[in-house]
Amino acid sequence: MSLRVIPEVAPVTDDDAFRHEIRDWLATNLTDELRGAGGPGRENEAFPQRLAFARRLAGAGWTTLAWPVAHGGRGASLQRQVIFHEEYARAGAPSRVDHIGTTMVGPTLIALGTRAQRDRFLPAIAAVGQLWCQGYSEPGAGSDLAGVITRARLDGDRWVLTGQKVWTSLAHVADWCFVLARTEPVPPGGPRHAGLSYLLVPMRQPGVTVRPIRQLTGDSEFNEVFFDDATTEAGLVVGEPGQGWRVAMATLAFERGAATVGQQVGFQRDLDDLVAVARRTGAATDPALRDRLTRAWIDLSVLRAHTLRSLTEDLPAGSSVIKLLWTRWRQGLGDLAMDVLSAGDAGPEATERWQRYFLFSRADTIYGGSNEIQRGIVAERVLGLPRQARG
Ligand SMILES: Cc1cc2nc3c(=O)[nH]c(=O)nc-3n(C[C@H](O)[C@H](O)[C@H](O)COP(=O)(O)OP(=O)(O)OC[C@H]3O[C@@H](n4cnc5c(N)ncnc54)[C@H](O)[C@@H]3O)c2cc1C
Repeated sequence: MSLRVIPEVAPVTDDDAFRHEIRDWLATNLTDELRGAGGPGRENEAFPQRLAFARRLAGAGWTTLAWPVAHGGRGASLQRQVIFHEEYARAGAPSRVDHIGTTMVGPTLIALGTRAQRDRFLPAIAAVGQLWCQGYSEPGAGSDLAGVITRARLDGDRWVLTGQKVWTSLAHVADWCFVLARTEPVPPGGPRHAGLSYLLVPMRQPGVTVRPIRQLTGDSEFNEVFFDDATTEAGLVVGEPGQGWRVAMATLAFERGAATVGQQVGFQRDLDDLVAVARRTGAATDPALRDRLTRAWIDLSVLRAHTLRSLTEDLPAGSSVIKLLWTRWRQGLGDLAMDVLSAGDAGPEATERWQRYFLFSRADTIYGGSNEIQRGIVAERVLGLPRQARG
């Protein structure tokens, strides 16, 4: 009889070594004041410290892990990006202040920018030397983004912008904004999104006014942004003038991806925290609340499995399904948290934290494409239902 020797320790793969590299880096660089700081509804929390941390992260090459080596990134495989985000979230590292630059506009410039634009902006974005905001939504154009009426006209060697953006996250700290503006009229009989351009606009200039909007949580993370003859250089249009829709959609596609996995590790921590609160308030012995906590764990496992699958398979409307699942999950956890708090005394810190979570989760089904819009995409692209009549 031959015995099969089972090694006690699995062989170390490069990915394991990579996991240890990020784990060690975080163990050395993550301080207690940063742990768990920031996140949806808490974007202003410890902002200067989170900015300094993002710069250290950049110095070690972690912020541009997914960028190609030729553009100053580490060209990491999808597997390694997932590992990074898992470890980052598991360690309780702070919510990133650089994500709009490093995961949205940076990859857009790599894919569609000119050489001059890449040379000028990528090094600063990678080093978190510049913060960016996204100027798409307007008072009359959110879900119906093609309806933007902010205008830009070329005057000599500069674009001159007039109009208003709204809900612009982090505009109050941003150095630059990528703005979707109308530069040409809609061609007769042509699509409404024709004639829009994607412009890179400096925020710190006399023609730009940023006015904070107070949210349900009492905080101000987003803003109104007014352009009154604000200007930017003629060369700072990404893609051809009038062809900005394609660029704007590419940016939205970059927003999703491997980071979603890290987001879900964060959800697991939220659930673990709520279970700990439930033990303190007595909710853990209430059969109905126990049942809901257990369901939350099961639903999160399903969400995670679907997300991992969608990273490697081209699932129809995959990102819409993920958005629908996670927003329903987070709002459900917020509702559950209110009932857990009602069961007993959770203490002031947990009460504040979970009330904020509950209130901010109302926004989850609005930003990044509302749930009605996501269900419309599933209806049309997956079920093949007739296109909705547009008003
Ligand atoms: C926290 C937060 C941060 C944000 N950050 C930014 C940012 O940084 N930059 C930026 O540009 N924007 C940002 N936004 C704006 C966001 O993208 C818009 O709020 C979103 O696109 C919805 O647009 P709207 O608010 O104009 O609502 P509308 O589009 O007017 O929708 C109102 C309601 O009608 C429903 N509806 C609209 N059209 C349809 C349809 N065809 N079928 C069915 N239902 C429909 C919607 O689902 C919604 O319930 C942010 C929003 C939030 C809440």
